[in-house]
Amino acid sequence: MLTLAIQMSQINWGFLKKEILQSCVKVISFDAEGTLVTPAFSHAVWHEAIPAFYSQKNGIELAQAKKIVAMEYDKIGEQRQEWYDINFWFRHLHLGASEPVIQSCQDKVSYYPEIIDILSSLDSQYRLIIASGTPLELLHYLLRDVEPYFAHVFSSISHYRQLKTPDFYLQVCGEMNVKPGQVVHVGDNWQFDFLNPKQVGIHAFHIDRVGGNHQESLADLTQLKHLLSA
Ligand SMILES: [Mg+2]
Repeated sequence: MLTLAIQMSQINWGFLKKEILQSCVKVISFDAEGTLVTPAFSHAVWHEAIPAFYSQKNGIELAQAKKIVAMEYDKIGEQRQEWYDINFWFRHLHLGASEPVIQSCQDKVSYYPEIIDILSSLDSQYRLIIASGTPLELLHYLLRDVEPYFAHVFSSISHYRQLKTPDFYLQVCGEMNVKPGQVVHVGDNWQFDFLNPKQVGIHAFHIDRVGGNHQESLADLTQLKHLLSA
């Protein structure tokens, strides 16, 4: 009996949530990496191409270059802006121009299988945007095949010189001329895509494609489509 009551309350909650969301939401905001685009391109840039270039420039073994570069990444850490800033790293590691290295990885860009279907079905009902922590130099490559779906692409690093903080999300809302309650954001980072947008009143959803610790996370974007499609 108790189980049934819990199931019923979940169904009612889901129904209400869907009704409320569809009536108030105007903008759907997506993180890019790990949400729309697989990590393959970023992995190739940060962990293959940059160490390979570093090894050539300094005349050392690739394995050793990988260790040095990884240590340098660790020293900065993902809570600092520089972690995401490709130009910072090219300066810091004395590698010259970043463009040829980024270009050499472009065949690694790939999208999760449900993405095109989701974007084409939500596109007619909502304004779709990107809210990413990736700098534009990399973001344009990542979004190559899907950019026409988006009314606006926001890079917290390139446009606002900050991480995806609560303040970044407020600025995005201001730029889109909507209130936080009219925005859904989805992304794969618990802090930057879930806690921070939620803090300013955005309807935030965490996507967990590998199946981690958070029970309320979405397994993929199909669930979001069901919640938001008429
Ligand atoms: Mg991400």
